[in-house]
Amino acid sequence: MHYAFDADQETFRRELATFAQKVLAPHYQPDDRAGRMRPELPREMASMGLTGLRVPERFGGQEADAVTTGLAAEEVSRADINACYILLVAALNADILVGNASEEQLARWLPPIADGSALSALVLTEPEHGSDAANLSLRAQPDGAGWRLTGEKTSISMGMLADTGIVFARTGGSGARGVSAFYVDLHDDRISRTALDDHGGRAIGRASLHFDSVPVGRDELIGQEGAGFVSVMQGFDYSRAVIGLMCVGIAEAALDDALDYARTREAFGGPIGRNQGVAFPLVEQATRLAGARHICYEALWRKDQGLDHTVAANMAKWFAPKTAGEVVHQALLTFGHAGWGSDSPQGQRLRDVMAFEIADGTAQVAKLVVARHLLGRKFAP
Ligand SMILES: Cc1cc2nc3c(=O)[nH]c(=O)nc-3n(C[C@H](O)[C@H](O)[C@H](O)COP(=O)(O)OP(=O)(O)OC[C@H]3O[C@@H](n4cnc5c(N)ncnc54)[C@H](O)[C@@H]3O)c2cc1C
Repeated sequence: MHYAFDADQETFRRELATFAQKVLAPHYQPDDRAGRMRPELPREMASMGLTGLRVPERFGGQEADAVTTGLAAEEVSRADINACYILLVAALNADILVGNASEEQLARWLPPIADGSALSALVLTEPEHGSDAANLSLRAQPDGAGWRLTGEKTSISMGMLADTGIVFARTGGSGARGVSAFYVDLHDDRISRTALDDHGGRAIGRASLHFDSVPVGRDELIGQEGAGFVSVMQGFDYSRAVIGLMCVGIAEAALDDALDYARTREAFGGPIGRNQGVAFPLVEQATRLAGARHICYEALWRKDQGLDHTVAANMAKWFAPKTAGEVVHQALLTFGHAGWGSDSPQGQRLRDVMAFEIADGTAQVAKLVVARHLLGRKFAP
């Protein structure tokens, strides 16, 4: 067993750590307070290749493997987990497109994702259908050679800002096989957007999108009609492990800060870290975090080897955000009163990381997928 990043991955990781601390970290708290994404952020991410990680080289991307994508997510999220949404959705959408779209469509859609000129969203959730996404109801009504999209999507990350989106709509009958995926220009004036006011991820934001008879042609259909749901679920298997590493990254930053504080803060005549009541909870959280990190990388490594990675990715999806939340919580407590003020990043980290217990599929849904594999389908339909 060889258990280490290779030399190229290690070099990339070091370059990214420098970039993330210099360019991203100073904006983590100010952007949250402002509740907005800096307009230059997608280009900054693109300048490090972070928007094109999963885009093939022939379309201007890095064609990185899954493990490299995961280590990028971990490093970026140490500095700014919100900036990492850009990396995440670009990687997820690129994977869905590469797996399903034609060469001609890829040539149109992927270069702007890779160079950061198009911010792309994943547009699946609806007000009445979240976990139960196979039953979504946004309608694609046949219209000449194409369709017209009518209905509402909600909870869409970067929904106020995105230029394009993979939109899932019902072209056929009930259930998963009636769902198709389209690549849609979200600047169409028959799409209106409403911002949501959130506890975390405030620099990225979510939005509801209202589609009022938006025309889409055969050129915008991704893959086969009726195959849209399967394509997104395959993409989720991968993005769930990347999300796990985003959560690991932010928790590592919180833990590092807490360890520094435990070394320097004095109480009762010595550093607080000398008290096992301070040190052991940090040790316990560091141990859980190491476990979460291993599961995430195992899932991504399995994907790179062409092995089934559904179980590992869904274990990562419930365990890493939950563990990371607990780590950040303990880190905040280590700071005592100094952790509670809004000038400390710990409170924001807690708000930001908690979002991932819901986003991209809740913990319960991830556990359902694992249960199906452990027990068999009839125990977890
Ligand atoms: C920060 C954030 C970002 C997001 N970004 C996007 C995005 O970019 N694009 C997008 O399309 N969506 C996005 N979402 C939406 C997200 O994918 C959904 O919120 C999620 O899938 C859950 O759906 P729901 O909110 O409708 O909850 P529901 O499906 O209504 O579930 C409510 C509760 O019941 C539980 N539950 C439901 N069914 C079961 C079951 N069978 N067994 C056990 N428990 C169950 C759920 O786990 C949850 O706790 C985002 C959400 C958040 C919070």
